Amino acid sequence: MQKILDNIAAEMARETDRGKVADYIPQLAHIDPNQFGIAVATPDGHMYAAGDASTLFSIQSISKVFTLTIGLGKLGDTLWTHVGREPSGDPFNSIVMLEHESGRPRNPFINAGAIAVVDAIMMGHKPKETLGEILQFVHLIADDESIRFDHKVAASEMAHKDRNASLAHFMKSFGRLRHDVDNVLGTYFHQCSIAMNCQQLASAGLYLVSNGVDKHSGVRVINEKRARRINSLMMMCGHYDGSGEFAYRVGLPGKSGVGGGILTIAPGKGSIAVWSPGLDHVGNSKLGLKALERFVQKTGWSVFAE
Ligand code: GLN
Repeated sequence: MQKILDNIAAEMARETDRGKVADYIPQLAHIDPNQFGIAVATPDGHMYAAGDASTLFSIQSISKVFTLTIGLGKLGDTLWTHVGREPSGDPFNSIVMLEHESGRPRNPFINAGAIAVVDAIMMGHKPKETLGEILQFVHLIADDESIRFDHKVAASEMAHKDRNASLAHFMKSFGRLRHDVDNVLGTYFHQCSIAMNCQQLASAGLYLVSNGVDKHSGVRVINEKRARRINSLMMMCGHYDGSGEFAYRVGLPGKSGVGGGILTIAPGKGSIAVWSPGLDHVGNSKLGLKALERFVQKTGWSVFAE
């Protein structure tokens, strides 16, 4: 495994077409696109890593997997009255389908869906308590209490919130959100700002590799049925309008973020985190996708093969 990762990192270092760093969040615009990291955590406790696997980056939309898990744990199937579970085929920040579906977002991984999920898990709590709960959850699954929010990134998104604020207000106009829009957005931007490295992220994904059980503590994070369903959603919706391409080329459940990270789950085998900040035209890591494609070619890991 180590050799496979070293080879992939060496190959990616030679790539010249690295995509474009997300600059609509000014705090992310300065990140050096010439970085690449990959880490694999396996349920037997091994960690393999290559390249810039210990450099922190903004997990952005990968956090939506964690808030979905928290939301399902808290609300159970009632969560599906707040958000749907169909692929959208639209960009991550699209407003289009909201009008057709009475303000109910198509799935928890597009921005509108994640905003609706965080609104749902805020019920009965102050925004700060919800943030504490999200961070505590990430500490548990990553087995690492050093993980923090990047308040500068969150503030940068708040200062350029117009698109997400539009989504939130539009949903609220249909009676979909229960809390003050700025409080919901503040919570959402903080969850997106969580800074992690590939090793921490691979470690955090292990509960989805292992039927919902946290391998570090033995604690059941979510029941087996729901863990399987989160993986299904990642497969169908984890890369927005690039989800079909990701399923075709990688064949594993995955979730991307505009920080350039991708968390990928090979059930029973391992959790793979890749990071390279340059994005393709739909906002997914360009080298991340390429590296994962190589990885599954070399390991044969797929949910569609033995
Ligand atoms: N925080 C980002 C946003 O709301 C998340 C988008 C993403 O990672 N695709 O625009």
